[in-house]
Order: sequence, then C-alpha cells, then structure tokens
Amino acid sequence: MSSPEDLNKTYECAEVERRWLDQWRDEDFYFDWGSAKPRYIIDTPPPYPTGRLHIGHALNWVYMDIIARYKRMRGYNVMFPQGWDCHGLPTEVKVEEIHGITKNDIPRDEFRQKCRDLTHENIERMRTSLRLMGFSIDWSSEYITMEEKYYSLTQASFLRMLKDGYIYQSEHPVNYCTRCETAIAFAEVAYTENTTLLNYFTFDGVEIATTRPELLAACVAVAVHPDDARYAKLRGQSLTVPLFSHQVPVVEDESVDPTFGSGAVMICTFGDKQDVVWWKTHNLDLRKAIDQTGTMTSICGRYSGMKAKECRSAILADMEESGILIRQEDLPQRVGTCWRCRTPIEILSERQWFVKVKQDEILKAAKEVSWYPEHMLVRLENWTSQMEWDWCISRQRLFATPIPVWFCSACGEMIIPDEADLPVDPTLISPKNPCPSCGSTEFSGETDVLDTWMDSSISPLAITRWDGKTTPEHYPTQLRPQGHDIIRTWAFYTILRSMALTGEKPWDSILVNGMVLGEDGFKMSKSRNNVITPDELIDRYGVDALRQWAAVGSATGSDITFSWNDVVAASRFQTKLWNIVRFSLLQIRKDDTTPAVHPTELADRWLLSHLSATITEVTEALDAYQFDRGLKSIRDFAWSILADNYLELVKGRLYGDTPSRAGAVYTLKVTLEALCGMLAPYIPFFASECYYHLTGNRIIDQSWPDLRLQDTAAIRDGDLLVSVVALLRKYKHDAGLALNAPLGHVTIYTPQMAIDDGGDAGRTTNAEIEWRSEEPHLDRIISDITFNMGIIGPTFRKEAGAVMQAIRSLPSESLAGVVSSVQINESEVAIPEGAFSPVYSYTIEGEEVDVLMIGDVVLAIRKRA
Ligand SMILES: [Zn+2]
Ligand SMILES: [Zn+2]
Repeated sequence: MSSPEDLNKTYECAEVERRWLDQWRDEDFYFDWGSAKPRYIIDTPPPYPTGRLHIGHALNWVYMDIIARYKRMRGYNVMFPQGWDCHGLPTEVKVEEIHGITKNDIPRDEFRQKCRDLTHENIERMRTSLRLMGFSIDWSSEYITMEEKYYSLTQASFLRMLKDGYIYQSEHPVNYCTRCETAIAFAEVAYTENTTLLNYFTFDGVEIATTRPELLAACVAVAVHPDDARYAKLRGQSLTVPLFSHQVPVVEDESVDPTFGSGAVMICTFGDKQDVVWWKTHNLDLRKAIDQTGTMTSICGRYSGMKAKECRSAILADMEESGILIRQEDLPQRVGTCWRCRTPIEILSERQWFVKVKQDEILKAAKEVSWYPEHMLVRLENWTSQMEWDWCISRQRLFATPIPVWFCSACGEMIIPDEADLPVDPTLISPKNPCPSCGSTEFSGETDVLDTWMDSSISPLAITRWDGKTTPEHYPTQLRPQGHDIIRTWAFYTILRSMALTGEKPWDSILVNGMVLGEDGFKMSKSRNNVITPDELIDRYGVDALRQWAAVGSATGSDITFSWNDVVAASRFQTKLWNIVRFSLLQIRKDDTTPAVHPTELADRWLLSHLSATITEVTEALDAYQFDRGLKSIRDFAWSILADNYLELVKGRLYGDTPSRAGAVYTLKVTLEALCGMLAPYIPFFASECYYHLTGNRIIDQSWPDLRLQDTAAIRDGDLLVSVVALLRKYKHDAGLALNAPLGHVTIYTPQMAIDDGGDAGRTTNAEIEWRSEEPHLDRIISDITFNMGIIGPTFRKEAGAVMQAIRSLPSESLAGVVSSVQINESEVAIPEGAFSPVYSYTIEGEEVDVLMIGDVVLAIRKRA
C-alpha cells in the first residue's frame, strides 16, 4: 500500500484498481450469520455459465454492488451471494458440438459428466471476471445448482410440492420442441411474425381453410357456429376426411368465427391452443400425427416417416392432384417458436409433470412485494392472470436435476425416496424397499428431468439455508434484482414456489433493470457489429468508469444505450476530482498544526449546507434504487458547488495565513471525506484511493456520511456571494481586465440581508468589497445622449446639427421626461419619438460608479485608476 502522502500527479486507474483488488479480502464482504445488525439479503440472479460476462451482466452486477456497498455503509449485515444456474440445453448442445456426439451416443451419466466439466471451466472463467471487476460478492454464499448440495434441495422441494398436491403428472398437450426433443413451458415460447399460406380445400363437400394441411391425419372434428345457417343441415352428421378417409363428427361451437374462411374449421390434435380448448370441450378423440422428433406417425399412411414440412408439400400436391384444392392465399401469422433454437413449436400430448398455477396466491404475494419501478408489477399481473395451462416442469433431456421418482414395474405404483437420501438419480439407483403395494422389487426410474427454472426458483430459499422443510430464519430476503426479460419466468416461478413451500413472499422488494442496447440503439448482436464487451471498456477506462456509465446511463428499469461519451465523461469526472483532492491535500498538509475548527465563514457554511443537502438527496436516491439520480447529484455538487465556486472563493484564504484559513481546511477535509463516502458504492476503487490518502483508512470500513445542516440562510447568502463573484468576474472580462487585476472599490447593497463573507469575495476578485445591508444611495445623472441618426438625418436634413445641439442644451429634468419639441431660432421644431435617448450614469457621494444588479441587490463599482 502506498503511503497517504504520495499522490500521483495523474489518476492511474489500472494501477489503483489492481492495488485495491489485492487489498480487499473475501472476508470483508461475508454475511455474518451471528450478527445482530439488520439483515439485507440480495437474491442475486445466478447467471448461466457460458464462460463470458457480457455487458448486460456488468450492468446488473454494478447495480447489485452499489446496493450491497451502500447498505453495508448504512449498517446492514449484507449478503451478496453468487449463484450459478448450470443445468439446461445450451450446455448439452455445446458438449455435443465440442465432442461431435449427440446425447444418445454415450451413457447418460457420462454425458452429464462432460456437461459438468464444461460448466466448471466456464464458472471459473466468469468468477475471474467478476473478481477483476471488484464486486463485493460474498463468496462464502456461493451456490452451484448442479452440485449435489443444491439439487438435493431442488428434489426436496419437488417432493414437498408433490405431497402437498402442487405437482401432478398427466397426459396433456404441451408445447414441444421437436428439434430439442423436449417439452417446454409457455414462458419459453418465443413468438415471431411471418406469412403463411391459407389453403382452401373441399372437405367432403364442405369448404375448409387450413394453414396446417400436414395435420389432416390428426383431424378429429369439423366445427361450425351454431347460428351459421349454411351448415344447419350438417348438424349431427359426420364427414369423411379427404386423403385419409376416417370419419369425424361435425360439432357446433360459439367460438367459431363464421366470417373466417368458409366458417367451417377442422379441429386437429393439435394445430394450436384453440384446438386444445375445442378438443377438451367436445371430448374428442386424440390422433397423434407428429411424434417427438417431428416425424409423421403411422396413422399418416403413405406420409408416415416424412418430416412435417415434407408432409405438408406432399399433401398439398395430392390435394391438387385429386382436384380438391380450391385456392391458396397469404396469411400473416404469429408463430410460437422454441426460445432456444427458434424451431416452430408443436403441441403434443404426452405424459408430463406439471406444477399447478394458483393465480390468486401468486397475485397476492406479488402485490405484497415492492416493485422498482412500480409499473413492472403490471407485467407480472398480466402474465399471471392470462395463464391457462399449468407449468410443465418435465423435460426429456439429460443435464438437469433428476425427477426423484420410481414406478413399480409390476403394479405401476409411484415410489418416492426418503428426503434423507436425497439427492437421488432414479435411473442409477433403485428404491431401498420393495413396492409397498405389491411387494415387487422391479422398478423403472423416471427418466424425465426437471425444468431448470425448478432449480433457480428456490434461490431465495437456498441462500437463506433452507433445510427442505421449515421456513428459514432469515426468510424472506430483502431484494431480488433481475432483468425485465425474465419477469414471466424467474420472478413468476420464484413467487409461485415461495408461496407453495413457505406460504410467504420470497422478497420484500424487487428491482427490475433494463437491457443494454448498442450505441446504435439496437440490441447488441454480432450481426449488427455493435457489441461492446466489459473487457474492452475496462482496458481503456477502468472499472470505475464502467460503473459510472452503468449508474447514470438511464433511470432504473429503462433500457440503457451504451455510449462511449458517457464513459469518457465518467473518466473525466475522476480526473477532475483527483485534481481537487491533490490540491486540497497540499493545503490540508501545509500546516499540520492547524486545529480542526468548526467553520464560521459564510463560504464554509454554504458549502457544508449544500453538502448536507446532497447527502440527503443521494441517500433518498439510493434508498429508492435511483442510481442515476444519486450519481448526478454527487457530480453536480463536486463540479459546480465545490470545484467551480467554493475552491475559487477560498483559494485566497488557503494561500494566506488568516485565522479563517483553518475553517476552509476543515471544510475541505469534511467535504472530501463525505464525497468519498458517497462515491464509495459507485466507484469503490477511486473512493478507496482518495479516502486512504485523506485519512489513512479504508473507506469500506466506514459508515455512510452523516451531516445534518439545515442552514437555509447560509445557502441563500452563499448563493448570492457566488453570484456576486461570478458577476464581477464577467465585468472584468467584459472590461478587458485580467482576472487577477485589481478592481477597485465595490459597494454591494443588500437591502434584505446582512452579509459577512469574511473577505472571500474581495480576495477572489481582487477588489475592496463593502457589503451594506441597506437600500443603495445612488444618484442618477444623464452623462451623455445617443441620437438615432436613422430618424434625425432624414427628418431634419441640414437642420440636424442644430437640432442635436438644441437637445443637448436641454436641462436634465426635461431630458429625463418626454421631449416633443425644441426651440430653434425662435421657432418650434417637433422631435419624433425615438430620435434620441439619454445615457445615465450613477454616482455615490459625487463619484461616478458602474452599477450591476442581481434582483434587488446592487453592486456599485468605483473605478479608480
Ligand atoms: Zn428447440
Ligand atoms: Zn407394485
């Protein structure tokens, strides 16, 4: 560690940041399980271990780190854990890619091991990045969802919800990705717009329009509106499906739109969600035409074995051939696709596991949570209230938490493990005891695995050390920070699970952040070439500049457009502050015997009052998670109040040896220490460095600045003092005087207040300044006259000289009033309006002065040679 004295001339962010990273210990940021302090537990998002931290992570982690550091300074026992949400398809796909295999080529467990190995490598890489960015993470609270310790809890939560009737299995239509070969939840369906063909064809004499002719084999009914007279004769009839020849009933349903196509629609199992509704309402057959790999099944006759797309072309060709295809038209369409691979989803009916969605319970808990920004609650409410299906939690993949269940091969009884034996992989081990219902010892383990949201949605329970049974002592947590893109997944599922497992909300508050957009305002993507990585930003400007950019880039919750300008401005701010600290330290150290004096001078009281107001403002902003508001307020104070005004006002005092010098030194020290305190959550490296030079101590061990001064008179008088100095400087500038040139005597009349600035204004402007709390005693005289030659010339022509002379000779009293005529050679000459105007000067006690005004305050400048 460098000594507090040697302050580099320039601020070297890379060197300073490296030094403080070495200085901070992991233990500095541990949550204290035995502490009596109020707790502040942050239910941080566990990132997917891709191996790379992107700029969106950086934004999210900066927000969380600002909160964690701020709350520690406010006296909270803070937990800022780091989790890793490991399971899932992306890693499986990556492993398949790296090893050139598919998941079915090697034993399940071997495949999983490869996934675990890759995940460990990726986590290590991301950990290093997080550490380099100096986030004050509590590494003792780290969790990894693929580790036994964690997924035991996931399995325990599954069993608990199974026992409590939240979880059931059933054959039910679900969204299914035939490329990933797994069921997916509604929240994982990504919608895209495209155009498809609407095909009109003759269906046993009835005209039918469909966008999915490949599902003809799965047709189970034709539906018409009950009031549609065109189809009244079909009531109770059945029709023969073209090309396949099976019989289907005609059903009547109010929800059929008679104006769409011919008004008759075919119901297939399943073309879309509406088909599922009709299928249930009319208790129709189930015909599966497409299997889990997207291949046409045996019911498709000569089309079986084809892929769905091939089948579509073949059926259309055959319809054309047999003369039943009437016409085709373009139809704009919203297609649901797999979030992961963008393959259009199918709705397949399979045996799956589901979690009951109890909407009222979720909505009640969501409303008990404070949402920042508030309007994000609506998104969760809308999503929750429009849920029609339960949450499908089973996946037909490998790298995930196993569903801890067996089935008796003899009688089909479901067997579950003891919670004490968790975790279990039912595909690797068998139940301890024979089947309780038939005594058989033959079992088959469930091969389906759990949706990864089943892991991550118990994060608040996991970090508060849930035992799988009783609600933890430190529950609920205080804050969930997350992106708005995962409200319908992570936030929704966490609330659902928390209610199911504890009956309580998971957090007191939720803070929703926006997404980072590229400099061009579009989502960052390789194809747009607008991707910025945290690394390149840090290499050029340091971590603290990145943190400032994240904090001020936009209001919390709004998307934030990346801007190099903001980063450069952030870096400049640090340079400016560094220079202030260097300058101040020279002054503070000049006379070590200077006692700390409570300041009495106006400028000092003014600065401290503004500082106090700034602390209040920043505190309020951070309490409301308004990071931009807080940092802007600090910057405004540091730039305009401290640097541009206060330092200019007190330089004279600091350079001199008046007794009031001690007040300025004291004020500077207090102010800079408080500034470091306020900046510590935002730019911890910079704040640590400056604070150490100022005090020899670590800022991370300090409390949040506390200065309560409500000296409104000091603010009002000081603001005037600052305006006076600014006006006198402008006056000097306009008069072509050097800033340090002597200005002479200035009398300042302040009728409403008595000001004593202790000589600061005079020293700053190099003037003799006299403050008088009285009305100005000024005499106004007309010292000259200006003529408007544009009027005088044309009106008087040869007489112009004489007219001007006559006007000049008028007495002052007349000139001050309205002059409508003058006497020239005994004749009356009319003077047009605007022909001249008097020029006034002011005098004090007979001496001419220049006058400047600020409201009712008058500055009289006696110009002396
Ligand atoms: Zn997919
Ligand atoms: Zn049995």
